Order: sequence, then structure tokens, then C-alpha cells
Amino acid sequence: MSDGPNPHSKHSKYDTSSGELVRKGVSCPKCGPGVFLGIHSDRMVCGKCGHTEEKQND
Ligand SMILES: [Zn+2]
Repeated sequence: MSDGPNPHSKHSKYDTSSGELVRKGVSCPKCGPGVFLGIHSDRMVCGKCGHTEEKQND
């Protein structure tokens, strides 16, 4: 049950048609506020521009 690196991460299971995609989280630094990064096991990816940030455990 490990979520290893997924080379097909762009193939997200998100369905934006529901309008439920956006939740509180980290907004994309490129797209600006209102566009949030998708949360993955070890990173966050913007579904709009593809910007990726490593998850920081602080
Ligand atoms: Zn973005």
C-alpha cells in the first residue's frame, strides 16, 4: 500500500466538473490565489499549469 512516485501523475483522478476540486490548501505560486495544488502522497501538483512542489513536513 505504498504510494510510490507516479510517472503518470498528470493523469489525475480529479473531476473538476463537480466543482468540488478546490479545497483549502496551498495555492499555486504561478497561477496565483484561487488555484490550489493537488495533494499527493509526497508532493503537490498544480492541475492547471503543472507546477510541482515537494511536500514539506514541518
Ligand atoms: Zn499553477
